[in-house]
Amino acid sequence: MEIPFLSLREGHSSIEKELCDSARRVIESGTYINGPETRAFASELESLLGVAHVVPVSNGLDALRLILRAYIETGRLAPGDEVMLPANTYIASVLPVVEFGLTPLLVRPDLSTYGLDWNEVMRLLSPKTKAVMAVHLYGTPGWDSAAAAELKERGILLIEDNAQAIGAGVHIPATGEVRLTGALGDAAAFSFYPTKNIGALGDAGAVATSDPEIASIVKSLANYGSTVRYHNDYAGYNCRMDELQAAFLRVKLRHLESVSEKRRRNAEIYLHMLEGCDIILPETVPNTTQVWHQFVIRHPLRERLRKHLAEKGISSDIHYPLSLFRQKCLAGLPAVKADRGEASALADRLAAEVLSLPVANVTEQQICRISDEIKSIHRQSL
Ligand SMILES: *Cc1c(COP(=O)(O)O)cnc(C)c1O
Repeated sequence: MEIPFLSLREGHSSIEKELCDSARRVIESGTYINGPETRAFASELESLLGVAHVVPVSNGLDALRLILRAYIETGRLAPGDEVMLPANTYIASVLPVVEFGLTPLLVRPDLSTYGLDWNEVMRLLSPKTKAVMAVHLYGTPGWDSAAAAELKERGILLIEDNAQAIGAGVHIPATGEVRLTGALGDAAAFSFYPTKNIGALGDAGAVATSDPEIASIVKSLANYGSTVRYHNDYAGYNCRMDELQAAFLRVKLRHLESVSEKRRRNAEIYLHMLEGCDIILPETVPNTTQVWHQFVIRHPLRERLRKHLAEKGISSDIHYPLSLFRQKCLAGLPAVKADRGEASALADRLAAEVLSLPVANVTEQQICRISDEIKSIHRQSL
């Protein structure tokens, strides 16, 4: 029996009726853009996160673009300013940085969270640093409350790429409360690409912020730069979420806790089954709630491991095979080209070693089978 990496169809089987009812409601409403579903989704996500403003948008990449562009409009960011982000993140984190002429500074990843190494962030700070983009990669909060507080004090913007971690949380020592990722910094981008923990049936994303000025600029930019019809304050874009996706996402949001719980349970089973095996397992990070967007193991002979699993009908994936230092589209940028040997060597090593195992809707039996295969190839040859 084949084990797929992720079956979106299967993930929808238990909520099919709710999705169909939502689609019918939208079809019958006669409103397909900027309507009640988008507004309701925004307010439901605001309550979940505990932020003042959510702006539903077209996708995660656009969410990041709108955030950066909004800060540029306020004058808090300007072309040439430096934005730090982890060197091992997905390409979409960095594309908007480059698009607006900001300078990406690729920071060494932390090996327990796979997000930013915050000691490196503090060490690399310079007067040119105007923003730090924390990426909660694989569903693990990549956050350091003390460092974040210090950056805030210095007036540096904290932007979160929360595309992979909706529902993840961080225990904040100063107040004793748990804050969800996407509500930690100044503004956060969400993606609802179908494979994300909360996925639309198409493209969708959101911006979350408690800054009313940023929220209103983002909202305007996403709608041609206009808030009053035919009056355009900014040269904006069309980055709206449509009503149909918002209606689907409202269904998905109601099931977020059970989706996260299932991923957490699956991760626990893997960690238990693979304990003592000679591979690097993902860490359970203290003072956080992880939502396991990916379950990522590491081994220097990753390709052999992956091939063995494939021969046994087990699909896996690689997030990501090339570090940002190696992306052609970034080559030549001063901060990328600069000799930062250690950071790029570490990012290369991760790119060569990471392997994502199926985690979203696998059964306990399937996890046991996958784990047994990993252990058996270990005994043989790795
Ligand atoms: C998916 C993803 C994005 C982009 O989201 P889209 O909706 O696909 O545009 C950005 N950052 C990270 C880390 C992602 O995983």
